[in-house]
Parts: sequence; C-alpha cells; structure tokens
Amino acid sequence: MPSKIQKEGPFEGALKQLEKTRKLISLEENIYAQLKAPKRFLQVSIPVRMDNGSVRVFTGYRSQYNDSRGPYKGGIRFHPDVNESEVKALSMWMTWKCAVVGIPLGGGKGGVIVNPRELSVGELERLSRGYIQAVFAFLGPQLDVPAPDVYTDPKIMGWMLDEYEKLLGHHAPGVITGKPLSIGGSAARGYSTAQGGVYVLSNAAAKLKLSKDAKVAIQGFGNAGSNMADLLAKKGYKIVAVSDSKGAIYKAKGLDVAALAAHKQKTGGVANFAGAQKLEDIIGCDCDILVLAALENSVTLENAKSIKAKLVFELANGPVSPGADEVLAGDGVSIIPDILANAGGVAVSYFEQAQNASNYYWTEAEVLQKLEKLMNDAFDAVWERKEKYKTTLRLGAHILAVERVAQAMRDRGLN
Ligand code: GLU
Repeated sequence: MPSKIQKEGPFEGALKQLEKTRKLISLEENIYAQLKAPKRFLQVSIPVRMDNGSVRVFTGYRSQYNDSRGPYKGGIRFHPDVNESEVKALSMWMTWKCAVVGIPLGGGKGGVIVNPRELSVGELERLSRGYIQAVFAFLGPQLDVPAPDVYTDPKIMGWMLDEYEKLLGHHAPGVITGKPLSIGGSAARGYSTAQGGVYVLSNAAAKLKLSKDAKVAIQGFGNAGSNMADLLAKKGYKIVAVSDSKGAIYKAKGLDVAALAAHKQKTGGVANFAGAQKLEDIIGCDCDILVLAALENSVTLENAKSIKAKLVFELANGPVSPGADEVLAGDGVSIIPDILANAGGVAVSYFEQAQNASNYYWTEAEVLQKLEKLMNDAFDAVWERKEKYKTTLRLGAHILAVERVAQAMRDRGLN
C-alpha cells in the first residue's frame, strides 16, 4: 500500500527538508522566501521527426533554482518518469550540492519525458538537438550549464554542444560539461561521481570505524554504480550484491566486477551472472554498506526497516524518502547524504569548465588530486556541522549548504 509520503512529489519533500534545516539555523525570512521556488522554470515541447516519417512531440523541462553563487548547474535526465516535481527537487539539490563542495555554481536541472532505449540513434540525436533549440536562450557558460544525468552521456553532450555552438555562431565549450575528451571534456569526468564517492566513503569509513573487509551492496549499475563497484573492488572492498532495473544478484564471496560489467555489456543486465545467486530485493540484503545508485525513493517507509547495512551511501540523488530517512536515523543507520556523496560529478564538471575557460587542459592525475582535496574538505565541513548541531550528516550537509547560499544572497543584498 503506497504511503502518504510516497505519493507526495519529491519537491514537497525537498521543501520540508529546507524547512527542517531552517529551524536549526538563523535564516532571514526574506532569504527563506526566495529559496522556496526555482527562479525560473521552463517547460518546452520538442517536436522530433521519427524514423518512420511521423512527428512525435516530447515534453522537456529546465529548472533554474538558484544562481546566487554562480551560473545554474545541473544535468539533463532522459527518463519516462521525469516530471515537474522531480526536476524542481533535483535543481534545488544541485544548489545545495554545489555549495557543499564550495564550487562557484548555482543549481539547475533538466529533463525530457522519454525512454531513450525506445529511440533509434538518429531519433535520440534529433531529440537532443531539439532540447537545446528549445532552451537555447536560457543557456550559456555564464548563465546555465547542463551535464549528463540518468540515461544521458558524453555522446549526447557532444550533440548538444554542437547544436548550441551552431546557433551561437562560435565556440563556447563551457556551456555544457561531461563532454567527450576530443571537444573539451575533462580527464576523469567519466567516473568522477564514483571517484568522489570513494573519497567520501573513505573519510566516512575512518570516522565510523568500518573495517576494510566490509561487504558492499550496490543498487544500480549505470555510470555511477558500475564505476563505484569497480573502484571499491580495486580498493579491496567485497562487492557482494549488485542490481539494475532488470534484476539483482548476490555472491557472498564477492563478485568479479570486471566480468560482471562485461556480462552486462553483452546481455543488457546484471541478471543471470554465472556463479551468483538471484536476489529478490537488494535493499534488505546481507551487507555492511548499501550504496544507492539508482533513482529517487528507492528506500521508503515500506522497506527501510529491512535494511541490514550499518551505512547507507547515497550515490543517486534523493534515493531515501524523507520518512525512511527518519526511520533509519532512529535505527542508528548512518546515511552519507547525496549532496555530499555524489558531488564528485559536478565537482569535475566545474574543473571541466575551468579548463574550457582557460583553454588549458589538466592531466588525469591533476584532476584527481584536486578532486580528492575538494571532497575531503567538503566531508570535514559537513562533519563539523553535524557535530556542532548534534545532528545527522544529512542535516549537517544541508546546514552547510544553506549557510553558504544564504551568505551569497546576503552579499548580493537579497536579504
Ligand atoms: N547529474 C550529475 C548530478 O546530479 C552531474 C551534474 C553536473 O555535473 O552538472 O550531480
């Protein structure tokens, strides 16, 4: 039976989170009022010529939440479940995420209601270009900078950059991040969400005294989840369970992550991987660390109690519902919140923009060194707020974010 909290859209949940944060800090009413809605919200209709000659009209969104710290920043999601509430929530979380890692960017997010797996490559390219045509006037390296998100990738960013530059009449690589390396992408951006996650997890494991032989389960085997599995396995963690949209598998002795990636490549999913057991439900499986790398509301009031992990790591955005968050906190489960845990992606997006602006490119080692420092500093700042306010890491991260955004607003005279 769906609970009341599940029926409520993600944006309502995000607003409640803000209200909770606000009660703990002193925030002017004038600032709070401005943080309750996106500064601009675009809904567009994108006509796409399909391969069979017909025209299909897709609905797209771009939510520009807050730009007091810098240009709006955030990915574009192609998914059948994209909706207004989700895009708004994601854009608010981008605002907090950029502030948590201290980069000079605001928050935005975009999406198109589509299952890209049902489109041919040509249709997908025309949809990607159509999206840029529809929101062109509202994008720019100093205005709003998209990036990949769920079911979008560097190839799509390449088409989008090309369309933007054609309409503009000159180069502007900093308008979009997560680009292919050949057209201004950054080294390490492809796996930076997971890499940032590994730095954060190492900090958390040290503070929470988790042993290195901890058993890890990973929900989601897309860009973030599969790279996280790979990086953690290389660090010696045992990856005992993995799931994707088509199934879940378990192996107590640990999965061979490279072989699993090859299996997924070949069969389209992680299910039926040789030597692993089929798993009904990854959320409640036997593990010490549960990495959530799929979509919002994967953990809800219905399944929160089944969690056996001591640590829940939010590599996806908003994977734990607000109700489940309280249940887990009550049960003593530590949650590493999304706006810290997965901020490595946007952090390297920022590095990508910096390289584009100076037209001078860094080595992979340079990018990783800068990323590690940035994530360590963010972790320490979040931990400090958690201790100071005697609260959860989630609220510690939100307090830090709102403090930083509010300061920028004050300095602009917006209080
Ligand atoms: N889509 C990623 C996120 O949710 C990356 C955003 C970006 O790089 O702008 O953080």
